[in-house]
Formats: sequence, structure tokens, C-alpha cells
Amino acid sequence: MKRITTAAVLVLLLAGCGKDGTPPPKGPQPSALPSYQVQSGAEITGSPTLDAARSRGHLVVGAKEDQPYLGQKNPATGEYSGFDIEIAKMVGADLGFAPDQIEFKTIASANRETALQNGQVDYYVGTYTINDNRKKLVGFAGPYYLAGQSLLVRRNDDTIHGPEDLNGRKVCSAAGSTPAQRIEKQYPKARLITYDTYSACVDNLITAQVDAVTTDNTILMGYAAKAPDELKVVGPLFSQEPYGIGTPKNDTVLRGALNDALAHHEENGDWRRAYDATLGLSGVPAPVPPPIDRY
Ligand code: GLU
Repeated sequence: MKRITTAAVLVLLLAGCGKDGTPPPKGPQPSALPSYQVQSGAEITGSPTLDAARSRGHLVVGAKEDQPYLGQKNPATGEYSGFDIEIAKMVGADLGFAPDQIEFKTIASANRETALQNGQVDYYVGTYTINDNRKKLVGFAGPYYLAGQSLLVRRNDDTIHGPEDLNGRKVCSAAGSTPAQRIEKQYPKARLITYDTYSACVDNLITAQVDAVTTDNTILMGYAAKAPDELKVVGPLFSQEPYGIGTPKNDTVLRGALNDALAHHEENGDWRRAYDATLGLSGVPAPVPPPIDRY
């Protein structure tokens, strides 16, 4: 009997897919994405990471899968989309790999350095803040975007307007992230709760298990755009989060090639077109990309 019920539910769900009258998913939908001209990449020599990718036949790129407009995995098709994914594809094209030669792998905030150190991914594009601590462990190309820490609360909450209102309140963030570290150090009276992902935090916010979610404004704006009746982003930005492409620390050839690729796509308009078709839809104002830091 149980089996019949499950099957019946499945049939109903499948029947609903794509049928007229099915409500569209909430939030703005993606517009046309740019396509990127694939270069030969042959002139880039001396990168152990690229050599391994060439003999493997594809790149493996670390990303997020639950951050709307930035890095999101479609559970039905397995496809990834968002601004970070476009960045990964545009620079991949300059390394000699077409988008269909990129395998994306979801890596949580806390596991990025280990994934790069172990060679689990060739590079990482997923709201990854460049800072000196992380530079001891990995390399960074970029920055390709500048975000800042902010707060997400329930739409009907009128008590939290900035980080100083978090005293004694439960605030959720991702383990191993710079926003979680900042709350611990600078706002010790807040009750910090960490999960692997921000989407777990958002679920807990909607069900009132926590009072706020904190991370980069880009990420929070995406969740708010998907659930505008339940959520809102509040307060000023209280940090600078320059996003970089994470690389294995000692592969300076790869880091240099990624910086060249970012500069190339910022100049030819791909960066801006990709932005407009992804993150721009969540309402984050269109910025000028920050200057690339070739340290
Ligand atoms: N940009 C911040 C960080 O790298 C927060 C976002 C994230 O966890 O990916 O820690």
C-alpha cells in the first residue's frame, strides 16, 4: 500500500512538471547567457594543474550548489548556474576548455582549502574571499567581485537593523566562512550557530529556529529574491569580501593565466554580460569589477 502511495505521488509530481498552470519558480529568472570563445590554451606551459587536466580531458572546478544567482545546482539536470559558474566557464575557455569540459564539484566553505591542497579540484569559484590567512594555504586569482557582510532576517522582524542588534540573538552562518569568524571575534555577545551551508541557515530562519543569517550581501540578496514574502536583507555592509578564484598554492602559472583570463573577459564585456544575466537579477547593483591583484 505504501509503495502505491509513493508511486502515485511521483506520477502527480511528474505530471505537474512543465504543464500549463504550473506556477513558475519564485524570483527573477535567468536571461540569455554569453558564450565564451574557447582558446587553444597551448601557450600556457608549466602548470602542473593544467597538465593534469589536459591528460584527464576536462577541468574539475569547485563551486557552491545552493546560492541563488551565484552557484546553484539544478537537482533535476545536475547542471550548475550563476555568476560564479559563468566566471569559471569564461576563464576555463581561455585555458582551452569548453564549458562542457568542466565538471563542477560542490565544496562547502569549510572544505575549500583542503580540496585545493588535495587536488580534488583544479580551481574553485564560489564566493571565496581572498585574505592573508587563506593565502598561506591556497593561491587566489582576482578579485573579480567585491561583496560585503550583511544580515538576512524574517520580513516581519523589526528588531534587527545591524550587527550590534545581535546581542543575545541567534545568528547563523556557514562553518569556516569569514562572516562566521567576524561574528565570533567582533560580536561575541551574538549566539553564533554554524551549518555547512547557508541554505540550512535560511531554512532555520524561516522556521524561526534562528533570528538572523549572516554572510555576504550577494548571497543574502539571492535568498531574499527567492522568498521576498518571508525574508529581507537589512543594515549596512560591515566588511569587504573580495572574491577570488582559489588555486593550488604553488601553481603560479595557473594563477597568472586565470588573472589574464579575468582581465580579458572584463575588457571584452563578457564579465558584465554574465553579471547582468545572473547576479544582477537578485537586485545587487551593477558594480565595476575591482582591480586584479597580481601578488
Ligand atoms: N565570502 C565569504 C567566505 O569566503 C562568505 C561566503 C562563503 O562562505 O562562501 O568565507
